[in-house]
Amino acid sequence: MKVSVKFLLSATSPSHFPAPTVPEVAFLGRSNVGKSSLINALLGTTVARVSSTPGRTRAINFFALSTSPNAPAKMIFADLPGYGYAKISKSISAEWPSFIEPYLTDRESLALSVCLVDTNIPPQASDRMLIDFLQQHQRPYLVVGTKADRLSNNTLSKSIALLKREHQIDDLVPCSVKKPDGTKALWSRLLAALPS
Ligand code: GDP
Repeated sequence: MKVSVKFLLSATSPSHFPAPTVPEVAFLGRSNVGKSSLINALLGTTVARVSSTPGRTRAINFFALSTSPNAPAKMIFADLPGYGYAKISKSISAEWPSFIEPYLTDRESLALSVCLVDTNIPPQASDRMLIDFLQQHQRPYLVVGTKADRLSNNTLSKSIALLKREHQIDDLVPCSVKKPDGTKALWSRLLAALPS
């Protein structure tokens, strides 16, 4: 999928958010889950920072997507701060700036929250908290399993089954940024989730 991407802004409060005029997709996950790599792979360009040591961005970074450089934006990607630094945290919000939860529940243009979980590690309590939060608030979400290339088919199937069970979800889309077409299925799902 060929898209033109423009960095819009980095928001540290709701007053900074771009006007909610086009459908938005938010990307969420624990630090080091592969969020920056996945956003870059989806867009075919480097917009999000990939780090070997976890960064601690406290902002939401917004990117406008269009079909050509001068065309109006068709979609917005929102890159949310990573979580999971604290070993034990009673709620996701304990680690997040206070504007994140209202963003997830109230943002009118938010068409989909993409929750990234690492297929290489056991189900994580912090991921469960986020998915539970979205389920409780009846917000549209999609769980994506990252780094699928690191596992054999058999181990990957087992990991997906466990993640689905523990996170109480019917569906999980495996992805890899290391394989050609490793994000193709996800693109189709993103487009399908947008209002027509
Ligand atoms: P973020 O902290 O969630 O933004 O994670 P990054 O995108 O910085 O990725 C964390 C680490 O995982 C980096 O070393 C990436 O190269 C690696 N990584 C990310 N996605 C994949 C993937 O699909 N396959 C493999 N093998 N490694 C990945």
